[in-house]
Amino acid sequence: KLSLSAKILMGMFFGACTGLLLQTFLQNGNLSAPWITAFFIDGVFRVGGEVFIASLMMLVVPLVFVSLVCGTSALSDISTLGKLGIKSLSLYIMTTAIAITIAIALALYVSPGHGVELTPNTQPGLSEAPSLADVVINMMPRNPFQSMAEGNMLQIIVFSVLFGIAIAMVGARGKVVASFFSDLNTIIMQLVLILMKLAPYGIFCLMARIFSELSWHAIGSLAQYFFVVMAALFAHALIVYPLLLKVFAGLNPITFYKKIRSALLFGFSTSSSSATLPVTMEVVTNRLGVHNSVSSFTLPLGATINMDGTAIMQGVATVFIAQVYGIDLSLTDYLMVILTATLASIGTAGVPGVGLIMLAMVLQQVGLPVEGIALIIGVDRLLDMTRTAVNISGDATISCIVAKSESKLDQARFYSTSPN
Ligand code: ASP
Repeated sequence: KLSLSAKILMGMFFGACTGLLLQTFLQNGNLSAPWITAFFIDGVFRVGGEVFIASLMMLVVPLVFVSLVCGTSALSDISTLGKLGIKSLSLYIMTTAIAITIAIALALYVSPGHGVELTPNTQPGLSEAPSLADVVINMMPRNPFQSMAEGNMLQIIVFSVLFGIAIAMVGARGKVVASFFSDLNTIIMQLVLILMKLAPYGIFCLMARIFSELSWHAIGSLAQYFFVVMAALFAHALIVYPLLLKVFAGLNPITFYKKIRSALLFGFSTSSSSATLPVTMEVVTNRLGVHNSVSSFTLPLGATINMDGTAIMQGVATVFIAQVYGIDLSLTDYLMVILTATLASIGTAGVPGVGLIMLAMVLQQVGLPVEGIALIIGVDRLLDMTRTAVNISGDATISCIVAKSESKLDQARFYSTSPN
């Protein structure tokens, strides 16, 4: 009888080993038969992994809509919503600014870009990052069904919150609809639990494919950059969040991390905080004891706008690219980087690799060559996986702090020692 996270860990471990073995065999020519790649890497593992991610994504929109309507309609005082919004938004922005400051400081100290040969690269195919004005305009849904069909998280949040408020305002006449949504929420959470049971197999496939294609050579030649990003990510997750939890909410960080570990493993293997959202909701609500009226709001918001891990990568990457190209940045430039990277994450969904698109915006802001991104793209996969886990820890940390300050945290549940 293994716990779910133990099974997921096993899936990850065996998946990674299988991927590495395949890579070694393919490289050594022992198993160069094209059918190996076609059957395993592009066949079984691709299908298994992508079906798994799609099944998680399938739940995101219904879950956010239903749980947010439930959460807001259950609030006895609508002004609480304003407080929740202001608190979570300012904490999200504050932690991102801390994250990027740590990253820039560490990168300036280690100087990972000095001595790196500049090899001419082709411009990576990047799409434009949205401007801040567009982000604000695009928050308002013109057609909520279209927002849901497109999975536009901020628009879904706006519509669901308004819908929930309206239910609360009509009072007794909204009872039937309110209890309908509440039952629906229970059913969708049950679906999340079913999918979580299948996760070890999906994660095995994802890891096998990623590790069969991972370029160790690229990581080796950019080792300093890679390790500075990793060190900053770990420092943020293991020092900043625990301190915030302890100081602002008086909670035990070890219990916190133990309870959210399955969400972290999901985040690591899918590289997507959006796809992991159903699992994050499950662990934060049911295992950490954050009341649904808080978590249904803070978590979808966090998965969309709070990306501390991504900001860390961007901070280190900016310093790295400036050093490789021999460009000196002033203090104002660094402040600009902090500001742009913090704002850049707003409105961009948590999907694999989106951090690099936002990096283009940061580089442009301080006049660094955007094609510098091509230098680091080869090592981004593992970093993306790790920073997604950090992004998710940040969302869960802020949810706990906000819930505690609103007396919406069930401490008994936080400290209960139920299995998993
Ligand atoms: N993959 C990250 C996430 O989903 C975003 C990024 O940094 O690319 O949180």
